[in-house]
Amino acid sequence: MNIKYNVTTKPQQKPQDESNLGFGKIFTDHMFIINYNPQDGWHNGRIEPLGDLCLHPASPVFHYAQEIFEGAKAYRRPDGQIQTFRLEENCRRMNRSAIRAAMPPLDEDFQYEAIHRLIDLDRDWVPHSEGTSLYLRPTMIADGKSLGANSATEFIYFVICAPSGAYYAGGMKPVRIRIEERYARAVKGGMGSAKTGGNYTASFKATKEAQDAGFDQVLWLDGRTQTCVEEVGAMNMFFVLDGKVVTADLGDTILPGITRKSVIHLAKAKGYTVEERKIPLEELLEAHANGKLQEAFGSGTAAVISPVGELNYDGKPYIINNNEIGPVTMDFYNTLTNIQFAKAEDPYNWTDIVKEYER
Ligand SMILES: *Cc1c(COP(=O)(O)O)cnc(C)c1O
Repeated sequence: MNIKYNVTTKPQQKPQDESNLGFGKIFTDHMFIINYNPQDGWHNGRIEPLGDLCLHPASPVFHYAQEIFEGAKAYRRPDGQIQTFRLEENCRRMNRSAIRAAMPPLDEDFQYEAIHRLIDLDRDWVPHSEGTSLYLRPTMIADGKSLGANSATEFIYFVICAPSGAYYAGGMKPVRIRIEERYARAVKGGMGSAKTGGNYTASFKATKEAQDAGFDQVLWLDGRTQTCVEEVGAMNMFFVLDGKVVTADLGDTILPGITRKSVIHLAKAKGYTVEERKIPLEELLEAHANGKLQEAFGSGTAAVISPVGELNYDGKPYIINNNEIGPVTMDFYNTLTNIQFAKAEDPYNWTDIVKEYER
């Protein structure tokens, strides 16, 4: 499959002030897009000027939320080149989500090349300032014209890119997290391990209520018994429990984060005992009472690592590490971001430089 180029004749002004990029509000000049139908399969892959999609109001994505997405970043290296971080993992996960959502997978190497070609064409949009990056958003939606409550037969895969500000522009600060007892994000047999917009819809009300009450995010319990902690809004959770690094084991209710996978790899390399298992809330609260809950942090592409200073359960605050960033948390953050921004060696071959493609 080849990729056609339609390069814009009206490039936009790039943001002058990189201290004010925010997240996902500014987009580059181009997008990648490819269509699927049963006759031709995936076809007409092209990079074209970023523009509106034209969809029939009966497109199944609007009615049955048949949609999946990915989130990754491209980073400016100190030598001026650009690199991605474990992007092949995003392409693989996209296809796992596609299968769960009854959508057609798109060849992983092809996805990877399309994304690298898009970054290459818009490379001047990758910001230079400390901590900034180009956020990548591959998305697959159901297209066509049918209200039938079945899987669509036509699909669109597209990738858009957003230069984004440093997540910790104001400094890294521990967050307050409310343990959610009333709502559930995912249940056994459901869609929790697929990166699909519907999971976010399921979480927004709880998140808004928590934020209105002064918290940053919610920590989800397992949807069936609501006794074990699973993950945060868009982050996996880690606990440092009595010196061990503990995270919930994957199943069909937890999103298999690439940052999570990287933290586990690093933790083992650093000599920690790592446990992937069920984490009863009761155990956590008891560990807190005994002084054994030493640190807690979230992991995800956006923040990389987010220290947790307070878990709030049933209206009671459980303060962790004196509401300060713990040494293990900081160590993972530094190790990961140094690899991502090419400030340190990449011993695991997690990064790939974006080459200049012929077009
Ligand atoms: C994307 C996502 C994560 C984090 O995954 P990364 O690959 O580390 O960015 C965690 N939980 C949910 C629900 C997510 O959608």
